[in-house]
Amino acid sequence: MFANRIQSMGTSIFTLMSKLAIKHNAINLGQGFPDFDGPSWIFNEAFKAMTEGKNQYAPMPGILTLRKRIASNYKNYYDMDIDSENGVCITAGATEALFVTISAYINPGDEVILFEPAYDAYPADVLLAGGIPKYVTLRKPDFGFDFNDLDNALTSKTKAIIINNPHNPTGKVYTRGELEEISKFAIKNNLIVISDEVYEFLTYDDAIHIPIASLPGMYDITITISSTGKTFSLTGWKIGYAVGKPELIDAIKKIHQWTTFAVNTPGQHAMAYAITKLDEYLPDFKKMYLGKRNLMLKLLEDSTFVAHTPLGSYFIMVDIPKAIKDEDLAMRLVKDYQVATVPTQGFYGKSREGETMLRLCFAKTDETIIQGIENLKKYV
Ligand code: PMP
Ligand code: GLN
Repeated sequence: MFANRIQSMGTSIFTLMSKLAIKHNAINLGQGFPDFDGPSWIFNEAFKAMTEGKNQYAPMPGILTLRKRIASNYKNYYDMDIDSENGVCITAGATEALFVTISAYINPGDEVILFEPAYDAYPADVLLAGGIPKYVTLRKPDFGFDFNDLDNALTSKTKAIIINNPHNPTGKVYTRGELEEISKFAIKNNLIVISDEVYEFLTYDDAIHIPIASLPGMYDITITISSTGKTFSLTGWKIGYAVGKPELIDAIKKIHQWTTFAVNTPGQHAMAYAITKLDEYLPDFKKMYLGKRNLMLKLLEDSTFVAHTPLGSYFIMVDIPKAIKDEDLAMRLVKDYQVATVPTQGFYGKSREGETMLRLCFAKTDETIIQGIENLKKYV
């Protein structure tokens, strides 16, 4: 009775770990979402929009004010020129943006290069489109990659490359040099680049986020995806977007009109307002997350879990004791030690490196972080 395409679809590891956290009454350092609320001044704007009658369908690509403010953001932060009329499509989270982009560009049999560990939606969306994921491994300790591996992953069927920067789950922030190599490779081989930048405002220390689309020649071939869910700690509002050259975004809208058609209207109005406050909002936001990252790193210092310091995102990868695999350990931790984590082998399609690590999320209150790491450290 089911379509063949669902045969390779499992349940996401994030959903599974959150379910187990509830079942075992465990502290949840697994699924990536803040366990605290976003700013209440944004809620007021949503309520205002509702009371002002902004409750019917939004235009298919999103309300123009929001598209304009997103476009002006790209100018302010990255000096990128985005056409607000035709170069932005508001989607139900980055999740929808990824799905519609991959559906719009990938034909059955097309190959798509993914850097592993890869966020689970990428291979799932590629497979749903009938495409074939090809992996390039980001290797410990700094999750760099060998440029030759890109060439080795290339075939006559390669259509696209997906990058995630800052990177979930490793916290890697791609350097300008790495982005230039990927750009040269993509331009030379006529590839479409899909760049998932949902953690663009979460960088630490001296790391700088550079959208790959801002590099020479990349605007013509790149679709950039982001989400207000991460930036404003409102993941449940599901307001994301894809931006790029109008011709590229046009293809995405063709699928978007048949998936969600339009994203919730009051939320878009609230986000259009929130974006105008980004300059004031970001310093405290970044400071808060830097504090949480440092707190978790400090607590892990004297443990058997060796942390890879992230320069971006809200995740820390830790090496685990050699005697046990990631999934077995994650199951034991959630059941017997009341702490949910994310095993990482599921982010890999080729290498077995994921078996040696767990992912911890620090988008949590300090109390949650302290309790969660205390539970984790009881495992010896
Ligand atoms: N991409 C990455 C790398 C993510 O980590 C997430 C969610 N945590 C998403 C996309 C999905 O974003 P959204 O919640 O806006 O759908
Ligand atoms: N992206 C989030 C994570 O990495 C989870 C979102 C989801 O469950 N789909 O944990």
